[in-house]
Amino acid sequence: MTTQFTLSGRARALTSSAIREILKVTERPEVISFAGGLPSPATFPVERMREATEKVLRDSPHAALQYGPTEGFTPLREWIAERLSRNGAKIPASRVLITTGSQQGLDLLGKVLIDEGSKVLVETPSYLGALQAFSLFAPAFASLPSDAQGIVTDQISPADLEGARFLYCLPNFQNPTGRRMPLERRKALVELAAKAGVPLVEDDPYGELSYGGEALPSLLSMNPDGVIYMGSFSKVLAPGLRLGYVVAPEEILGKMVQAKQAADLHTPSFSQRIVYEAVQDGFIDKHIPSIRALYGAQCEHMLAALEREFPEQARWNRPEGGMFIWVDLPEGIDSGALLAKAIEHNVAFVPGAPFYAVEPRRNCLRLSFVTVPAEKIDHGIKVLGELLKAEIAA
Ligand code: PMP
Repeated sequence: MTTQFTLSGRARALTSSAIREILKVTERPEVISFAGGLPSPATFPVERMREATEKVLRDSPHAALQYGPTEGFTPLREWIAERLSRNGAKIPASRVLITTGSQQGLDLLGKVLIDEGSKVLVETPSYLGALQAFSLFAPAFASLPSDAQGIVTDQISPADLEGARFLYCLPNFQNPTGRRMPLERRKALVELAAKAGVPLVEDDPYGELSYGGEALPSLLSMNPDGVIYMGSFSKVLAPGLRLGYVVAPEEILGKMVQAKQAADLHTPSFSQRIVYEAVQDGFIDKHIPSIRALYGAQCEHMLAALEREFPEQARWNRPEGGMFIWVDLPEGIDSGALLAKAIEHNVAFVPGAPFYAVEPRRNCLRLSFVTVPAEKIDHGIKVLGELLKAEIAA
């Protein structure tokens, strides 16, 4: 008898996105891709990682190659807690869980907080990877009104928040839009959520990548008992390390620890110890300004190209940090169709629709400006501008 694989309902609900299929061609070297969410490899501190790795293998080889506690390597948890406590909030290390990338934090969150049909609040648009992670647990997503400054707090009523398991948001240089939530809205959001008794989930991998302006206080620092915070070393060191962290009140963190134990026992001891060594002696604070300088210059370059090449009917933001620019196109233009044409001309971007949990908009797209060299940015944006003008004229 042939073997039958009867898939779970959860697995049957998984789909491979059409866009992912289209974007596979972006791996061809001749394609100028503004589609990737990858940090620039030019920012990876290779020499520092080599030294840190050698030190770990010299000083603590057996511990580094052994199993470790699910919560994570204690000195690294302490370092993270101390860093997050710099702006006033007192975060104890007991509230920090080291995860295998912050993407795992999103999965664990889904596991411990979402039942089928649970109400989960998100921004419009929101991070696709979070929507995918939560979707495995079949929530009922509800979108909150959002504009160029994030969630429009004065358009939210207590009824919008009622019964939600959590509200997932990205206050700093959001993926996909690059937008940042101003201080007043942060305060209003924390107050609204606290009044409604709804946890905020603050996803913050880009918080350190501000190009110049003052850092704004995290939601976590405003209400540590009401916020689950996610951070990552992917954008400030390197994503291949797969190192992220969750900060949460102990009761909920304990549940995430149990869920993580079932998932992968713990985050690799080796990566954790290497990163702990790498960040010593203020290295990270010396390293981050070089990432900001590169990304800030790349961003300016793309903005100038957009100004030159894109039709006046298109609108985009001026990000103050992060890796992305969001473009709004005139009504009726489908960025998915535009992508198919762009790929014929060896240029790629990500269409906006998949970033919407409900009621997708098609006349928008995301551009990453960090990995493509300046002269290729110029050419790629010129090609997109021409295609867009032709589309508008059609
Ligand atoms: N959250 C957001 C908003 C992201 O953009 C990313 C990476 N694309 C992640 C989480 C996951 O990051 P990692 O797992 O590498 O820490």
